[in-house]
Amino acid sequence: MTTSGEQATGESRPLGSYDVIVVGAGFAGATVARELAERGGKSVIVLEQRHHIGGNAYDRLDDAGVLIHQYGPHIFHTVDQRVFDYVSRFTTWNGYSHEVLADVYGTYLPVPFNKQSLRLAFGHERGAYLIAKLIERFGDEKKVPISELRKEADPDLVEIADYVWENVFLHYTTKQWGKSADEIDVSVTARVPVFVSEDCRYFTDPHQGLPTEGYTKIFERMLDHPLITVRTNVDARPLLDLSEPGVVRVDGKPYAGTVIYTGPLDELFGCRHGRLPYRSLDFVFETHDVDQFQPRGTINYTVSEDYTRITEFKHLTRQELPGKTTIVREYSRDYDPESGMDPYYPEVNAEVQAMHAAYVALTEQLPSFYPLGRLAEYRYYNMDATVAKALDLADALLEENK
Ligand code: FAD
Ligand code: UDP
Repeated sequence: MTTSGEQATGESRPLGSYDVIVVGAGFAGATVARELAERGGKSVIVLEQRHHIGGNAYDRLDDAGVLIHQYGPHIFHTVDQRVFDYVSRFTTWNGYSHEVLADVYGTYLPVPFNKQSLRLAFGHERGAYLIAKLIERFGDEKKVPISELRKEADPDLVEIADYVWENVFLHYTTKQWGKSADEIDVSVTARVPVFVSEDCRYFTDPHQGLPTEGYTKIFERMLDHPLITVRTNVDARPLLDLSEPGVVRVDGKPYAGTVIYTGPLDELFGCRHGRLPYRSLDFVFETHDVDQFQPRGTINYTVSEDYTRITEFKHLTRQELPGKTTIVREYSRDYDPESGMDPYYPEVNAEVQAMHAAYVALTEQLPSFYPLGRLAEYRYYNMDATVAKALDLADALLEENK
């Protein structure tokens, strides 16, 4: 095992001889693998197509020695004590609280849009008046999804809603999702509600921060178990023969063990019900010879630029490295598997959910085959929700096996 997250552990033996095959070494796969090995005594093989473990949470040192997140900025945050305790078995935390500013024509406004943003956008006096109106309508310290605020009829609330929609959500959402912001499911923008508060943190969860030694170390520790074998650089699809309905063939024989799959389901079934749409991202990294590039971890470009946001990793990781810093710009685009892109965001809507359900139905015809995680379940999960789902699945499987 190396600190770059590359792994080839365990002995070489036929795939079909393992009790459990886990596809994908992200939070979903690593959690369920660890649980089934540790609590269930199962032999588990984890197959990962990338050259490293960690899924999209993978981090590494770049050429300048800056710890970067290869697949975009990841801030761990949760209200779920069970998940926090579980992940904390494999790491300590650096105490970072994420803060984001929106660049609105050169003025930085805190996001989620809050009392400070209102004063900056509308001036102190008018801002104070509008804050009082928000408190009167929704209560102090309340979070209000922009879709709810936009339903209000009071002219002052309409003014706030229009301002926030135009300057924070409209262009950013169009860039991020490649379609009109009004077509996006309201649950997406509800992730970043207007917050009637002075609190400038992006997340208010009681547990938040970054792993002190980085995410990749968490995965190395999770997968470091005598019953777990990890193979990187292995695409599982050609190894799982699903051509006969109701049968999983491995090594040419029907497989009697459990398969847990954390990749996109459509590709597993030859896209026979259509392609599940995902958004992908281009990450453009730059290292600068300065201590600090920008005043906060992330600046969202909500009214300008082709990219959505710039993140400077040293804020997040609290790495001490004078004279060097690395940033990443994120450019969003449709996922096209033919172009070597990665799928990052499920594009949740009713029609696509139905297509996804048709793929889940195919997996249900297979003995002991479980889709798990953000890609396979086609849900906009954060890391904590992914771990929670993996712990639930492990509990259910271990209960069944009693
Ligand atoms: P993944 O991490 O995607 O892991 C799936 C793994 O399966 C991948 O490594 C993939 O290579 C592998 N795989 C797929 N198909 C195959 C195959 N056929 N054979 C072998 N291997 C395969 N969450 C937060 O909580 N906080 C954040 O700040 C945050 N920021 C994010 C920023 C970005 C840009 C993105 C894209 C996501 C962010 N997330 C964040 C969400 C977080 O990344 C996910 O919740 C988490 O990674 C989901 O874990 P997973 O194991 O389901 O999927
Ligand atoms: N969003 C926006 N402007 C912002 C921040 C968020 O329009 O400044 C919208 C956008 O549609 C985005 C969604 O809110 O996709 C969820 O934002 P979040 O920061 O949770 O996205 P992620 O970090 O998952 O990319």
